[in-house]
Amino acid sequence: MSGWRVTVDTGRCSGIGLCEALAPGTLEVGEDGHVHALTDGFDQSLLEQVEEAVRSCPTQSLSIERMQTE
Ligand code: SF4
Repeated sequence: MSGWRVTVDTGRCSGIGLCEALAPGTLEVGEDGHVHALTDGFDQSLLEQVEEAVRSCPTQSLSIERMQTE
């Protein structure tokens, strides 16, 4: 899949879920109290909202990386 991937530093995540509210369908707070990515990757159409979630995270737990395409 082409596009981007969001990763979560679960050691920093406080699990309040602001990012889930900003990027529903991409990020979700799990039963363990930490956010998890719901997909292996996402495309351009979701990039803006995931970037907003990354910027808004109070503990700077999120990062985006570009996935290699062939
Ligand atoms: S906004 Fe940051 S700290 Fe809050 S749940 Fe999402 S990743 Fe965790």
